[in-house]
Amino acid sequence: MSKSYLQLKNHLNKVFKSLSLETLNTRLSKKMGNLAKRVPGGATINELAINRRLNLTSLSEEDRNLLADAQSMAEGEIYKKNIENFIGTVQLPVGLAGPLRVNGVFAQGDYYIPLATTEAALVASYHRGALLISEAGGCTSILLSEGVSRSPGFIFNNLIEAGTFVKWCMEQLDIFRERAYSTTNHGKLQDMQVSIEGNHVYLIFEYHTGDASGQNMVTIATEAIVQYIVEHAPIKPVHHFIEANLSGDKKASSQSFHSVRGKKVTAEITLPRELVEKYLHTTPELMSKYWKLSAMGGVLSGSIGTQGHYANGLTALYIATGQDAACVAESAVGITRLECTGDGSLYAAVTLPNIMVGTVGGGTGLPTQRACMNILGLAGTGNSQALAEVCAAVILAGELSIQGAICAQHFCRAHQKLARKP
Ligand code: NAP
Repeated sequence: MSKSYLQLKNHLNKVFKSLSLETLNTRLSKKMGNLAKRVPGGATINELAINRRLNLTSLSEEDRNLLADAQSMAEGEIYKKNIENFIGTVQLPVGLAGPLRVNGVFAQGDYYIPLATTEAALVASYHRGALLISEAGGCTSILLSEGVSRSPGFIFNNLIEAGTFVKWCMEQLDIFRERAYSTTNHGKLQDMQVSIEGNHVYLIFEYHTGDASGQNMVTIATEAIVQYIVEHAPIKPVHHFIEANLSGDKKASSQSFHSVRGKKVTAEITLPRELVEKYLHTTPELMSKYWKLSAMGGVLSGSIGTQGHYANGLTALYIATGQDAACVAESAVGITRLECTGDGSLYAAVTLPNIMVGTVGGGTGLPTQRACMNILGLAGTGNSQALAEVCAAVILAGELSIQGAICAQHFCRAHQKLARKP
């Protein structure tokens, strides 16, 4: 924790206004008395199990029925592979934006975009950006590369052992591939990188994961490889771990721009001045100036990449379509660029190296999430690459809309108007 003297002083004043040091110490100390009853765990989903869990809470009948409503109870079994200790479902509003015209290698046509959020103005903003893009003929969106990694880590006694181990690993790639294939029909081990730090060895296994986002798939495949390594390596590691935090799983990292996690996509459009004025009520020149200022702001703040609000659209789309929303941590990294062209049009591009989406597996098959996938027309096999290109197009729509709103001085007004309606 680092705070300025004044901030810290104010904070301490606030805390000690109502608490003595002695009371505070008591509040913060361990308490070894009887614990509240443990939540009955497990994947069992039936009325009895749900009631046993809910009985631990002081929820009113009305609140219980909101969580464990008739539909959630009837569909309970479906959630078995996605949740433990189930007590029902929460409802989120879903809005529809679009059409969004996407001219991609895989995604082609006009898409309606389901967005699940509780943030007013979000859907309206993406909707506006989508209409702007569509009226201009659609954006070009391209999947550039794919790959999902797991990075097991190994500890040795010294660097000599670590080096001998790495030399052996370098001769095992074909066997590693076979081991991985034995666990999955769709996961394919593409590459292995090695990183050595003293007596620590990190192996970075990169896979293609078919139409699944693939986090589970690569974990299971890598576990099979690690088992082989532990059984057969000439030098046994003192310790081994399935993930050593070098894969970028669920965190923004500076390796984003020289590798890929999930799907790397880029989208661009050149917008005629009239459309910028009509939809965004500003000019390409001002958008370009604002982009420079905001890009420098990003640099000054130390952000990885520089962009306006990727997390907004991605989280809403991920939740609606059953993606792992926590992956927004790595997915909401990228670069937005806006420039005024020689003829006074606006060039806009977004590049996202870590789009973690699938059209099978994870939460994509759950009833309402599947319905949202069907809105996109991208449920199931053969569609994950198109979904990634649609994601980039959605993000481009959101970047144009927010930066336009800020340039036109409409940003606050839109939120005020839409979020504070009586
Ligand atoms: P998954 O549902 O665990 O696996 C995908 C399943 O779909 C596999 O059984 C695969 O079979 C099958 N499949 C059928 N058709 C396919 C196709 N065309 N392409 C690819 N697979 C196909 O999902 P996942 O994507 O691997 O994992 C995503 C979930 O993992 C998310 O919910 C995420 O929250 C969670 N997660 C897990 C970890 C972890 O380390 N365990 C970490 C973070 C997140 P085959 O394998 O036989 O091909």
